[in-house]
Amino acid sequence: FTPPTTGLLKNLNPEQHAAVTLGQEPALILAGAGSGKTRVLTTRIAWLMSQGLVAPGGVMAVTFTNKAAKEMVTRLTAMLPVNVRGMWIGTFHGLCNRFLRAHWKLAGLPQGFQILDASDSVSAVKRVIKAMKLDEERFVPKQVSWFIAGAKEDGLRAKDIEQRDEQSRTMVAIYQAYQDQCEREGVVDFAELMLRTYELLRDHAELRAHYQQRFKYILVDEFQDTNKLQYAWLKMFAPPGAGQGVFAVGDDDQSIYAFRGARVGNMADFEREYRVRKVVKLEQNYRSFGNILDAANELISRNSHRLGKNLRTEMGPGEPVRVNESASDFAEAQWLLEEAQALHRQGMPRQEIAILYRSNAQSRVLESALFNAGIPYRVYGGLRFFERAEVKHALAYLRLIENANDDTSFLRVVNFPARGIGARTIELLQDAARVSGRSLYQSVGAVAGKGGSNLAGFVSLVESMRNLTQGLTLREIISQMLESSGLAEFYRNDKDGAERLENLDELINAAEAFVTQEGFGKDAVALPVDELAPGAIAEGLPNAVAAAAVTPDAETGEIMSPLAAFLTHASLEAGDNQAQAGQDAIQLMTVHSAKGLEFDAVFITGLEEGLFPHENSLADGDGLEEERRLMYVAITRARQRLYLSFSQTRMLHGQTRYNVKSRFLEELPEAALKWLTPRNQGFGSGFAREYQSAWERGSGLKSMVGAGRVETSTAARAPYVPPVPQTMKQAAAQKVGNEYGGLRVGKGVFHNKFGEGVLVTLEGSGQDARAQVNFGRHGMKWLALAVAKLTPID
Ligand code: ATP
Ligand code: MG
Repeated sequence: FTPPTTGLLKNLNPEQHAAVTLGQEPALILAGAGSGKTRVLTTRIAWLMSQGLVAPGGVMAVTFTNKAAKEMVTRLTAMLPVNVRGMWIGTFHGLCNRFLRAHWKLAGLPQGFQILDASDSVSAVKRVIKAMKLDEERFVPKQVSWFIAGAKEDGLRAKDIEQRDEQSRTMVAIYQAYQDQCEREGVVDFAELMLRTYELLRDHAELRAHYQQRFKYILVDEFQDTNKLQYAWLKMFAPPGAGQGVFAVGDDDQSIYAFRGARVGNMADFEREYRVRKVVKLEQNYRSFGNILDAANELISRNSHRLGKNLRTEMGPGEPVRVNESASDFAEAQWLLEEAQALHRQGMPRQEIAILYRSNAQSRVLESALFNAGIPYRVYGGLRFFERAEVKHALAYLRLIENANDDTSFLRVVNFPARGIGARTIELLQDAARVSGRSLYQSVGAVAGKGGSNLAGFVSLVESMRNLTQGLTLREIISQMLESSGLAEFYRNDKDGAERLENLDELINAAEAFVTQEGFGKDAVALPVDELAPGAIAEGLPNAVAAAAVTPDAETGEIMSPLAAFLTHASLEAGDNQAQAGQDAIQLMTVHSAKGLEFDAVFITGLEEGLFPHENSLADGDGLEEERRLMYVAITRARQRLYLSFSQTRMLHGQTRYNVKSRFLEELPEAALKWLTPRNQGFGSGFAREYQSAWERGSGLKSMVGAGRVETSTAARAPYVPPVPQTMKQAAAQKVGNEYGGLRVGKGVFHNKFGEGVLVTLEGSGQDARAQVNFGRHGMKWLALAVAKLTPID
């Protein structure tokens, strides 16, 4: 085998080359992290098209995160000058959305259907529970919402679920009522996107035949994390034996979504059901230096249920894996940003530096440290920006403009800003809506009295907003809405509204960026949805099916208004708004959302027992193995530098936790590591006895004696000062002491900007000392005592 020196296939090893150029047949690539699976998948798409084997419209490629999908599109456009817009590349949810936008009528959805994000969905469930007069303690909305999502992911409607007892009967009844409510309001949750698409294909043979003929090649990345429904969904588009080129790539060691129903077993099923001739294995890792790979290999070797793969690199050992211990999460954040800055000064772009954490809640401290230091950063994976209250209010108004029957949005803003519509009026309205089976908006006429006329006022407000925004650009629509809804006015009059106003401005920016990115500009041939309508007819599709496709607006040719598209985007996408688009920024994300990505430098933070591995996983062996795979994913994101970090204390969910370092640190090869702080610092104190059981869980106790190697960072050119060691005892004493420079927990304090408040928490020491104060009208605030001047009052 001599690799070609030019063209798409250059720089592929023989196994990769063979996989890229496979014929139109089912294929399974099973290989470890960084072995080029995604690269092979992307190159294959480019190769197929360059050979004229398929047109862009005949390819569907599925990835797991929006970021991965974007990356794939970028890589593809670099390889081949194709119109990627015509290609179906995206996440499962993104593709389902696209599909349902095209077939909304057939799917029984309103054209402008809206998507409920996870928290919208919980509040929708909550409303149902309330309407059914059930006890929220027994039927916890969040849990019920998980139950419903889980059922949908198993392909089950309420009627399909077995009802064993009283409890399960009620759960099913809630599921059904929730579903009815969603139908009434014209909204769908994430799981519904998948299930609807699946059912639509299952129940419409013609539609199914159309898509099976259309997609000649279907490629699925991260196949190990597909769940039952996703696999069934795939089989609708490409059933075994139909002759399409279904190409699945995966790595069982990176299966990290079992808690959401992912089935590694799908890989074995796929191999059998599709009669895969030969499973392709790739064994060379092109991503990471030796020390990083050694760490990953050694760690994952402790898992038992593995399909077994080897990984080697030719890149040499590279830098050691650096380990750092901090006294507090604040100190950890500080250390981390200094280290990241040092890397950046040496020429590493910020976007090549990733900070990973196990739980979303960890990001707050990191974010505020970065923010205060003025370092641009971007958070991926959560719906952070779009989840801020003021942004959600604004989006709710926009949704009502698009679809007034959206009850979730209606309830969110009907009395915000206040319009004299009280809880009693809302209850009456909800009763009326329930009786008539109509939306809240449609039921307003049924409420009498003062409340009724205020409701009528709200309805005419929405009507007028709809009229005023006719024919405006997205930017103008949002500005108009902010003014006529009274939101802008409200926050202008609010003393602390400045930041919220900024966020609302940011919403306009986000809309602007979206419009440019999606090509909705002046030349508005707005087709993020589907080119299917004309194509369907050309392909001789039966009329019924063609008619089900979206009819473009006669005047503009738009299939979906920019507003509707933007609202969808807001529900589906993570907020990229912390750093401006295009700005070089440090990347923050959970380990889950880092899957498939790679960075020059990676920081894995919070390596503490109970956090990573997560406490919920410790009960059973499978849980722990999943956490270990998660750690494997985290480690293998790094190309050149890997940092592992843990902290003795951490504020999480409003409590200070005292930590033992993660067992995963003990599972790494010593030779690949370099400790930046004294090893096992603080573990020798008598205080440890009080935490005996915790110590025993982490294996730290055994090796407490040796101080370990002490080395400071080599990344820092400027002299590097390691964080001041603080023993757990000291930290605890401060916490327990409840007193600091005359301040006492539970007593009053005065602040010259926020006025009087009550001290709620005190913690940290010296530069790190901080206080949590309830300032009543100004809300709860965390203050750094080195900066904030707090005076005790009685
Ligand atoms: P993961 O399991 O983490 O998703 P992966 O198997 O998908 O990893 P890729 O992301 O495709 O791996 O590849 C890892 C890195 O190695 C990428 O930067 C890719 O460009 C590079 N790479 C892959 N194959 C080769 C090759 N033959 N020569 C040089 N670089 C390669
Ligand atoms: Mg990959």
